[in-house]
Amino acid sequence: MDIGKIISELKSSLPEGVKLVAVTKTKPPEIIEEAYKAGHKTFGENKVQELVQKFEKLPEDIEWHFIGHLQSNKTKYLIPFVGMIHGIDSFKILKSVNKEAGKFGRVIPCLLQFHIARESTKFGLSEEEAFEILESGTFARMENIKVAGVMGMATFTDNKEMVRSEFRELKAIFKKLKSSYFPEDPAFREISMGMSDDYDIAVEEGSTIVRIGSKIFGSR
Ligand SMILES: *Cc1c(COP(=O)(O)O)cnc(C)c1O
Repeated sequence: MDIGKIISELKSSLPEGVKLVAVTKTKPPEIIEEAYKAGHKTFGENKVQELVQKFEKLPEDIEWHFIGHLQSNKTKYLIPFVGMIHGIDSFKILKSVNKEAGKFGRVIPCLLQFHIARESTKFGLSEEEAFEILESGTFARMENIKVAGVMGMATFTDNKEMVRSEFRELKAIFKKLKSSYFPEDPAFREISMGMSDDYDIAVEEGSTIVRIGSKIFGSR
């Protein structure tokens, strides 16, 4: 199995403007290096410690995306190098990213995670919680984060119509936030949705970032 070939075929199947985050959780650094050598530079991890360890072993120009549930006591380990944080699921965590990023003079692109799945186990904000964040004075004063869009995970199911309707829901939330809070802001543009089993539907429904692991690197 040639990882470089799988990635390049996958990328050429995606419409222009849809970015691939190759999800490497549980996979060893050597496998990531193989993908890197084949020219892919954007990777996603969902555990802070694992991400930091891989960052230290691998080339500096890799763009690391954090796609998991973040705890505020661990934010500081990511801040020096992380390229984007996908799973902002509380005001508390956004504040923590802003505070730590300030210490490094960085502005970290962040995505607000929404709870679109029917499963109760998946993290995410409700629309009301997001409105509350975006309308607050505290948010207006945050200089070290940049809200760049939204992220969501669909229900794990074979029911494609259900998955599609959940992705549609996320796209609708994106549009609502865009028109209400970011109409003049070109940086608010990302919809991170779609994984190995549902990225084709996500792309049809307007995804701009797909997060794909097992289809590239094999099952975990
Ligand atoms: C693991 C993971 C993925 C990738 O899942 P695959 O089914 O292996 O493609 C995408 N997004 C998040 C948040 C993940 O935790």
